[in-house]
Amino acid sequence: MTYHPDAFPTHWDLNPYRGCSIGCKYCFAQYSHKYLGLDDFFKDILIKTNVSESLGKKLGKKNWNNEQIKIGGITDLYQHLEKRYKLMPKVYEIIKKHKTPVFIQTKSTLILRDFEIIQELSKITSVDIATSITTFDESIRKVIEPGASTTLERIEMLAKFKGISRSTTLGFMPIIPLLSDTDENLETTFSLAKEYGIDNVVTSFLFLRGDVKSKFMALIEQHFPEIYTGFSKLYATSTVDPNYKQNINLKIKKLRDKYQLFSVYKAVETIAHSDQLSLF
Ligand code: SF4
Repeated sequence: MTYHPDAFPTHWDLNPYRGCSIGCKYCFAQYSHKYLGLDDFFKDILIKTNVSESLGKKLGKKNWNNEQIKIGGITDLYQHLEKRYKLMPKVYEIIKKHKTPVFIQTKSTLILRDFEIIQELSKITSVDIATSITTFDESIRKVIEPGASTTLERIEMLAKFKGISRSTTLGFMPIIPLLSDTDENLETTFSLAKEYGIDNVVTSFLFLRGDVKSKFMALIEQHFPEIYTGFSKLYATSTVDPNYKQNINLKIKKLRDKYQLFSVYKAVETIAHSDQLSLF
């Protein structure tokens, strides 16, 4: 488990896998593989088969203050290998034992395999569920997020946790200029989130960090050549052109007002073990 002092909503990150077969072409975690001396973030996957044991040791320490843990913040916990390795049910057992609040984030409906375990967990601690989407155009989605569940499946999956989790959050992220920013795509995101009763909608723009930029530009050139020139102009740096960003943010604001859908996520208050014990 790693600690990120400036992260929101939680500082603790648990990732049972290093590398991710979901294969999102915009994934900014790709850089992290270099530190491991590995090349292909999408194919060279490290499996932390002892993740539940080491988590148990950490949560069993006297100085652990029972902060919320984010699972799947760097790599997807329900990527394809989880079908075979089944690391998550054991992780949930440890979390249940220590009554630790969790924020679970995935782009895979494989999470539904563990629905009942998560439901049990949510009866004794705080459980937040999140997913993110980029486009309802499946022909585009298959190119940029080849290993993810379909966009609609992800929203339907998230909605199933409504009522059993503390909150459900839909990320419309990253917004990919000229590809996923159509008025129709924006409107459908908000209208479906409303229809399915999702609590929060958060948005963010494509960030092209390090060599992800050259890889992503090559993908645009190969699969979407008609937007290549315009896209290049918007990404003179690693972040999108500020005027473009302002324009899209205005559209998003109108949709938030229309559907009354905001990001109202509240961080979980930390209740230390010693405080919990004093209740009994
Ligand atoms: S699911 Fe997340 S970690 Fe996996 S490739 Fe996509 S963006 Fe990267």
